[in-house]
Amino acid sequence: MLGAIFGDIIGSTRELHNVKTEEFELFPAGSHFTDDTVMTVAVAEKLLNDHSGCNSRKAYATRYKQYYNRYRNAGFGQMFSKWAESDTLRIQRSYGNGAAMRVTAIGYAFDDLKPLLKEVKASCYYTHHNREAIKSAKAVATCVFLARKQENKDSIKRTIEKMYGYRFQPLDEIRRDYVFDSRASYSVPPALEAFFESDSYESAIRKAISIGGDSDTIACITGGIAEAYYREIPKEIATRGNLIIDSGLRRVVREFNEVMNVE
Ligand SMILES: [Mg+2]
Repeated sequence: MLGAIFGDIIGSTRELHNVKTEEFELFPAGSHFTDDTVMTVAVAEKLLNDHSGCNSRKAYATRYKQYYNRYRNAGFGQMFSKWAESDTLRIQRSYGNGAAMRVTAIGYAFDDLKPLLKEVKASCYYTHHNREAIKSAKAVATCVFLARKQENKDSIKRTIEKMYGYRFQPLDEIRRDYVFDSRASYSVPPALEAFFESDSYESAIRKAISIGGDSDTIACITGGIAEAYYREIPKEIATRGNLIIDSGLRRVVREFNEVMNVE
């Protein structure tokens, strides 16, 4: 999960100033964690502490609201903020990439795809009640799951194409006219492609940022998968990244990794 969080931090300064290259400073001044990190940790915390089973939908929604309230200034979008601030638990039909950016932990929490995908759906229920958003979240969690199982990248790619109907384009083509658009169907395939073309955690993050667009979210998604696959984050990235997350978030991550046996 730290892979996703560090991706978010590294992308945080690049969202407004896209770099479109793999050569850039990883942690320039102002690097910070954003809503992607906060929601990723909220999902992990739900998995750790809620075993109500059939009420997973509500448990997720409750966590989202709690974490939103704790980290209101993390960069949440207007639509999500409005939902989080309302007193009632209403269903929102967002097609944004917010459902996909936060599911890394679900990819670690199950040993079979079927219950895993059911959990992903529950995590989307109140905020992203939308076919494209749910599909994208399922695709990301499936990738984390298969990467964790050390399936090879070609086979992961074929599985995702078959299960979700995504068509992947090389990054060199995507990058040319890629702009900011936080629609799930526009953010997720490029984020996965950055992983497919990578050969290490760091190269995956660099490729993800080089696409441009919603950089923190794209790198968060790519980073979560890349960590599960490469099982190694360069020390320098881990040290710098860890200094940026606060102790409350770090505690949940540590506990989650202990319970799930993540190194
Ligand atoms: Mg963000």
